[in-house]
This record gives sequence, structure tokens and C-alpha cells, in this order.
Amino acid sequence: MNKKPALILKNVVRTYGEGPQALHVLNGADLEIMPGEMVAMIAPSGAGKSTLLHSAGLLERPDSGEIYIRDKATRDLSDDERTKMRRHTIGFVYQFHHLLPEFSAEENLMIPQMINGLTRAEAKERSRELLDYMKIGERADHRPSELSGGEQQRVAIARAVANSPRILLADEPTGNLDPETASHVFATLESLVRNTGLAALIATHNHVLARQMDRCITLEAGKIIDITE
Ligand code: ADP
Repeated sequence: MNKKPALILKNVVRTYGEGPQALHVLNGADLEIMPGEMVAMIAPSGAGKSTLLHSAGLLERPDSGEIYIRDKATRDLSDDERTKMRRHTIGFVYQFHHLLPEFSAEENLMIPQMINGLTRAEAKERSRELLDYMKIGERADHRPSELSGGEQQRVAIARAVANSPRILLADEPTGNLDPETASHVFATLESLVRNTGLAALIATHNHVLARQMDRCITLEAGKIIDITE
């Protein structure tokens, strides 16, 4: 099959500050991720993982280099165009769930879909399907505070893919969970990625989970290095 990468970073440079104080967080970072591919990113704190995820997710603009989302160069897009592209093609999961506390799990999934133009009924149907897929269908009416840590992260993952993105960017998605819960949550995340052909870049400190992914990368002196064992 002649598939193309869902995400390409080419020679991405991101520097904070200027002159002798300048911090070259990304300094010629190159990466390609294919649809359905899971890439783990393991690097020490401060190495630039968040900067890389935010750049790939079009939340930050690199100083130079290019980021292609499904073949489309993004450097010259306006802020509005970047926001639109992000909404349609990229899903984010963070270490802490960031669910809206006053809404149920189902409503947390419905809101981004309705913002994207779906009717209430359509959004509700897809939310139910996704929560069932993540094995928390019976918790759909509960608010985040009534869910366990693992359940909250399942809802956060379901919300990240509610608008059928092509790329999933995750920053320590199981970092806040005990090892057993982490591996259960990861298993549903993995099955979701495999079944939907998402391209996933997942920052983690968990070497056990990293080994289950297709590739493992790290960041050294602002460059991406493949460290797959
Ligand atoms: P990680 O996610 O791997 O911990 P980050 O991407 O958050 O790393 O940060 C990389 C480096 O860049 C750190 O030294 C951090 O202090 C610095 N940094 C991040 N964001 C900014 C910013 N907005 N301004 C200045 N320095 C920053």
C-alpha cells in the first residue's frame, strides 16, 4: 500500500530567548509518522517534548522548518487556518484529563463535536459509541469527579478522537495512573489507534508501554533520534 505520512516535521527549529541566553529546544528536528503508527517519545524533563508536541499540533509556530499535516505545509497558514486544521485533524491528550467538571462524560464528548457542526443527536450517538469502545459506556452520565483516574483518562482519550482526527498527540497520557490501570488504558488507546489508522505520537516515561509501540524516539540537543530497541 502506498501510504503517505500523516505528520512530517522537517528541520524544525524552536529557540527561546536570544543571544547567549538562547535556548535551542528544537534544533533541526525531523520526524515522519504514518497512519496507524504509534511512536513513543522518551526524554528527560526539559528536553523539549512539550515544545515538540505543541509545534506538531500547530499550537506553537516553529522559528524555521516545516510541519506537514497530511501533505499540507502549515508554515504559511494564517492563525485561523491553523486553528481550523487543528480542530479537524489533531487530537490532544494530556497527563491530567482537563475534562469540564460540570458536564457528564458524554457531554464532554458532545461539546467539541457540536462546535464542529454536528447536531446534538449526532454528537450524542457518536459519544455513546466512543464511550462504549473505551469500555466506559455505563459511566456516560457521570461527571469527571465521579470517575476513577483510569476512567477519566479514557474519557479524555475518547474526547480527543471525537472529531475523528488523523493525528493523536499525547503528553504522558498514563503518567498519573498506577501501572495496572496505565496498561489497561494504554491497551484501549492502542486498539483505537490501530483500528482508526490514527498516527500517534505519545510522550511517556513508561518504558514498558514504549516498547509496545512501533518506534521509540528521544530528543538530544534539539534533534530527534530513533532509539527503538
Ligand atoms: P519537556 O516537555 O521535555 O519537559 P519543554 O518542551 O516543556 O520540555 O521545555 C524545553 C525547555 O524549554 C525547558 O528548558 C523549558 O524551560 C524551556 N521553555 C519551554 N517553554 C518556554 C517558553 N515559553 N519560554 C522560555 N523557555 C521555555
